[in-house]
Amino acid sequence: MATMREDVDRIVISERTLAERVADMAREIAGGYPDTGEGITIVTILAGSLVFLSDLIRRLPLRMRIGLITVSSYAGKTTLSSGATFESAILPDLCNRHVLIVDDILETGGTLRLVQSQVGAAGPRSVKTAVLLRKTSRAPKDLKVDYVGFDIDDLFVVGYGLDYDGLYRNLPYIAVLKTELYQAGRHV
Ligand code: 5GP
Ligand code: MG
Repeated sequence: MATMREDVDRIVISERTLAERVADMAREIAGGYPDTGEGITIVTILAGSLVFLSDLIRRLPLRMRIGLITVSSYAGKTTLSSGATFESAILPDLCNRHVLIVDDILETGGTLRLVQSQVGAAGPRSVKTAVLLRKTSRAPKDLKVDYVGFDIDDLFVVGYGLDYDGLYRNLPYIAVLKTELYQAGRHV
């Protein structure tokens, strides 16, 4: 049987390293909300963040509500971002709430800027941002992110929620695919 693992060129971050860092991030995040008895509201950006989110929230002892936003930036078989556009949202009331935005990966920052401004317009009490991955050489220096899991090189990665053309989200680690699989855009 041909499995998706045959498409992987190399593992960039292992399952174990992900689990350890996500547990650390949960401790850092919980430590950043010492007095929020009423809890926080997480706004997560789908679909790439879903695996990170599910691991992170089960490590967070805070009371929380969860909202979902869909933003698209990569269409189909490209690995070049086309700029973030808002698609849809299922959000609880953010007015006067402590909001934590959760995203999978920060590249140009277009996605986070869009979501930060949308959340900011709803009148929250505070806004913080957590991302699992940040592409150091591409992320703008002026974009405020409170919690970062890993700084990585400028590679197109898949797995642990991240897709290429809709596939590979269920790989349990972060990986780079074999070069010949990337059909358009930048090759890694
Ligand atoms: P930005 O808006 O910061 O340029 O890009 C952020 C979004 O682009 C992420 O939320 C993610 O959906 C997508 N993205 C950026 N880099 C990668 C990558 O290496 N792999 C995958 N699968 N998606 C990426
Ligand atoms: Mg995304």
